[in-house]
Amino acid sequence: MGKRADGIRGQSETGDPLLLTPGPLTTSAAVKAVMLHDWGSRDAAFLKINREVMDRLPEIVQGVGSHVTVPMQGSGTFAVEAMLTTFVPPDGKVLLLVNGAYGQRTKRICEIARRAFHVHETDEDTPPDLHRLAGTLQADLAITHVFLVHCETTSGILNPVAEVAALASKHGRGFLLDSMSAFGALPLDVRHVPVDAIAASSNKCIEGIPGLGFVIAREAALAKTKGNATSLALDLHDQWQNFAKTGQYRFTPPIHVIVSFHQALMEFFAEGGQPGRGARYRDNAEILSVGMQALGFMPLLPAKLQAPIIHTFHMPKHPNFVFQTFYDALKDRGYVIYPGKLTVADSFRIGCIGRINGDHMRGFLETTADVLNHMGVANLRAEIRSWP
Ligand SMILES: *Cc1c(COP(=O)(O)O)cnc(C)c1O
Repeated sequence: MGKRADGIRGQSETGDPLLLTPGPLTTSAAVKAVMLHDWGSRDAAFLKINREVMDRLPEIVQGVGSHVTVPMQGSGTFAVEAMLTTFVPPDGKVLLLVNGAYGQRTKRICEIARRAFHVHETDEDTPPDLHRLAGTLQADLAITHVFLVHCETTSGILNPVAEVAALASKHGRGFLLDSMSAFGALPLDVRHVPVDAIAASSNKCIEGIPGLGFVIAREAALAKTKGNATSLALDLHDQWQNFAKTGQYRFTPPIHVIVSFHQALMEFFAEGGQPGRGARYRDNAEILSVGMQALGFMPLLPAKLQAPIIHTFHMPKHPNFVFQTFYDALKDRGYVIYPGKLTVADSFRIGCIGRINGDHMRGFLETTADVLNHMGVANLRAEIRSWP
């Protein structure tokens, strides 16, 4: 047997494989290390840490003074469901802008919570049609809120947040944003983009561990939501009021997640906040995009629709390319990629968020080239010329 080149092994600060996924993501060593303690949920040390997290999150969207953080135990979906069912009253109606799996999920949320909704659906590689949207808002006066996904992680597409927010505002409707995979990485300034509520979570671009969702809500809008909720646990108004009264969670918080999220948030601000983090991710995304195309992979999205969060590539049709083999070989070498979730095309995804940098990305590309060689897939480039 000859010497086998393995490319460059990927590893995190703690020696784990790098997660090139949409989250949970690779985190720093310190984000994990700070969890090696016990705290009581009503303990002053923990409550101070939690308070700092809640106070500082609105800074990221220039919302200090206008917006407040309402944390919600659970994954990101808990925060999205809490946002929709607290802000949209039982007799309200929400216009759901759908172009991927996370948008689709909100239809189920509304069905189960019995909120009336109207779906504006476009393909997974297509942003909402602003012209048609304006028409719907004009025609259907029952619509009280508009919901959009900032970066639809299904494809990695960047949706037109500012434009949709302006339309909703112009037509006097509330605007609710699922910014889960974009929050902290992409700019959003609530002084210029009118938004009632932004849902995100601990384990995406702030680079914490999973277990805490949160909603950054315009205080004046949140104050009007009393009694809207149709769930006890997901009632953002009640959660907010309880913090105002006691400084505490109503029900057991994921303490270690929050302490670790606090550490992640301090690292985020030390990196320069959104501009700093966004620049690192853009760098990662650029290296990834150029490198993968040089290897012959074809991206799903044109550059102008691509957010620097996660990239979707068409599944190569080369007879020797077997995705599971490709996936396993990369995993063996320290890189965890992500299967596709598209309905429009057979695809796979590679994330560029989390505690990863340009060197990690270059290591990944070198390793990918090596894996393709081992698979006997040397001429992907020749193959794409014959694609439609
Ligand atoms: C990750 C994500 C969510 C939440 O998913 P969970 O698995 O519940 O954490 C929601 N919306 C978008 C756009 C996401 O990327």
